[in-house]
Amino acid sequence: MAYTVPKLTDYSAAALESAADGLKSALREESRAVTDESQFKAFRDRWMARKSGVLSQLNDEWLKAAPKDSKRAVGQRVNEIKVHVEDVVAKAEHLRHELATASSLASGAVDITLPGIRRAIGAEHPVLRTSREIVAVFQKLGYSVADGPVIETDYYNFEALNFPPNHPARDTQDTLFIAGQQAKPLRERLLLRTHTSPVQIRTMEKMRPPIRIVIPGTVHRNDPPDASHSPMFHQIEGLAVDTNITFGDLKGTLDHAMKEFFGSSVKTSFRPSFFPFTEPSAEMFVSCFICGGSGRRGANPCRPCKQTGWIEILGCGMVDPNVFEFVKDTGYDPKKVSGFAFGMGAGEPRLARVDAVAQF
Ligand SMILES: [Zn+2]
Repeated sequence: MAYTVPKLTDYSAAALESAADGLKSALREESRAVTDESQFKAFRDRWMARKSGVLSQLNDEWLKAAPKDSKRAVGQRVNEIKVHVEDVVAKAEHLRHELATASSLASGAVDITLPGIRRAIGAEHPVLRTSREIVAVFQKLGYSVADGPVIETDYYNFEALNFPPNHPARDTQDTLFIAGQQAKPLRERLLLRTHTSPVQIRTMEKMRPPIRIVIPGTVHRNDPPDASHSPMFHQIEGLAVDTNITFGDLKGTLDHAMKEFFGSSVKTSFRPSFFPFTEPSAEMFVSCFICGGSGRRGANPCRPCKQTGWIEILGCGMVDPNVFEFVKDTGYDPKKVSGFAFGMGAGEPRLARVDAVAQF
């Protein structure tokens, strides 16, 4: 039996709710019965036609007839029903299209061998693009790309990089450990690597000096996410080992790389720092590529460089002889070879240049 809009005598919330439920279940029944174009049109007009459709009857039978103090509640209810009816009718139309397409496919009216609509593939992610561009700078200098596991052992992530067990420097790289390994010796326990540096050790174990490698990859730390932290981020790390490598080589290489990446006008500055696996260690700053080193952008302060005109970009230093001790067997005698290492985050917006990130 076709649904007709009932007259209301009771305008309480419960009565409105029950009247709306009755309407919705009738709507559902009728929408299910639609199978072809003409039935769909009849269904749509019955519910939505401007003059005599069910929705316009609701206006007359419920809203206009409602006593003054109930008008607001009835009006809200009628609006809610209107949105619901439009939604159900739109879904019925969509379904009818699909049924029609299926039946034309079955009858051979559509040539399914025709080429489909080509979907545009997305753009490269700014972080990966930045990473690839930095790697390319070092490849031009003769560096090759090295790779290693993201799930590492404590030995490669910490111990062989001169973070002894219980050393406080480990606290700066709190990470995510794989559960249930208490029975294993500490050095064999698995964790998500906190830096790409374990690949330095793994590479030196396999390749005799001289080496020049650059290591891009994802790393993890136990940092709650905010605008400038994430439990997962991207690093790029480099290592050069040979005889007679000096801090001058480190400075010259990194200064050149930054000019290649940010432009020839960029200046670099090194300030003393500490990392367990390098000695001496430094942080390298580049002159701010947003404000040109002035600390201001017109009348406003330059926020990316905190108005200092310099942006900290990477950590670096001469490989600590203690690290070479762990790979002495493959030719890295600390008395004979020396080297430098550096590491930077590729996901940090400050490193992704202005054209790569809209954040600035
Ligand atoms: Zn600046």
